[in-house]
Amino acid sequence: MIEDTKPWAVEITDLKKTYKGNKKSPGEEALKGVSLNVPRGSIFGLLGPNGAGKSTIINIMAGLVTKTSGRVKIWDSDIDEDLRKCKAAIGVVPQEINEDAFFTPAALLDLMAGFYGVPKKDRRTAELLEMVGLSDKAEAYTRTLSGGMKRRLMVAKAMVHSPPILVLDEPTAGVDVELRKQLWENVRGLNKQGVTILLTTHYLEEAEELCDEIAIINHGEVIVHETTEALVSRIEGKEIRFRLDRPMEDIGTVLAGFVAEKTGKRSVIIRYNPSETEVGAMIEAIQKAGYGIVDISTDDSDLEDVFLQLTGSSATS
Ligand code: ADP
Ligand code: MG
Repeated sequence: MIEDTKPWAVEITDLKKTYKGNKKSPGEEALKGVSLNVPRGSIFGLLGPNGAGKSTIINIMAGLVTKTSGRVKIWDSDIDEDLRKCKAAIGVVPQEINEDAFFTPAALLDLMAGFYGVPKKDRRTAELLEMVGLSDKAEAYTRTLSGGMKRRLMVAKAMVHSPPILVLDEPTAGVDVELRKQLWENVRGLNKQGVTILLTTHYLEEAEELCDEIAIINHGEVIVHETTEALVSRIEGKEIRFRLDRPMEDIGTVLAGFVAEKTGKRSVIIRYNPSETEVGAMIEAIQKAGYGIVDISTDDSDLEDVFLQLTGSSATS
């Protein structure tokens, strides 16, 4: 479970959207009541297949699509009450690159900053171009830039008003591996400077590599929302359940370093990836804290596997 007491960058509550002109599936809700909170300072991934509703969420946040119902708050402002403040708090890089063929990157960033009302002395054109590795292209014509350069320019363009939140809709769709890594570096760099990042992707690997938290959405609904660590171990890994001789009150201390959850009075589940974590280490941690293990079971019914690991590691400890 994700705790719900952090300061949020974005708060989405029961968000619904039905497009009037949805030809593929008329009347179907593109969003069926999505609730999500994005913690400030995080890199948050919206993961889901094509048509899941990711861009719809982003475009509602950006003020490009009107929601059917629900609430959206951006940096504590409600989009229904103060859209202007909301727009000031986010920079959005849309899924489709729109070309600004007639401007140089430097001119484009200056123009956008003017559009946002950033005074000349506060404009960061050179700094932003440096950030996305386009300093040497400052005066080039945008139409002469490669696809990857254009995308990086879009990131710079979304940041001209120094918003605390950067939203990237499928930043690396159709982008080669080299460039993908470069974009990831840009995103990490911005995050280190304190920018909250919300990105959508349909690549599990990308979400896993970059994000602190991941929400998986499908058919307009959030299916799971967990920390990346918990999600990855759930996908790749196994679950093991320990029944103890008494309730574990200090699970965070005893099982620090494991993805553990109290599931009953005396039972604890640990999610783990067999290639990274040994069951023996879990047992050791539990016993060291003075708890007795009454029973061990696994969800994968691969008990034999567990016992093998068990006997294997207890032999060496
Ligand atoms: P994703 O970004 O996850 O691929 P979208 O938010 O683009 O998903 O689309 C979600 C659903 O809404 C899809 O069924 C899509 O066909 C529909 N949809 C998206 N945009 C429009 C639109 N402008 N008009 C009608 N239907 C739309
Ligand atoms: Mg999309």
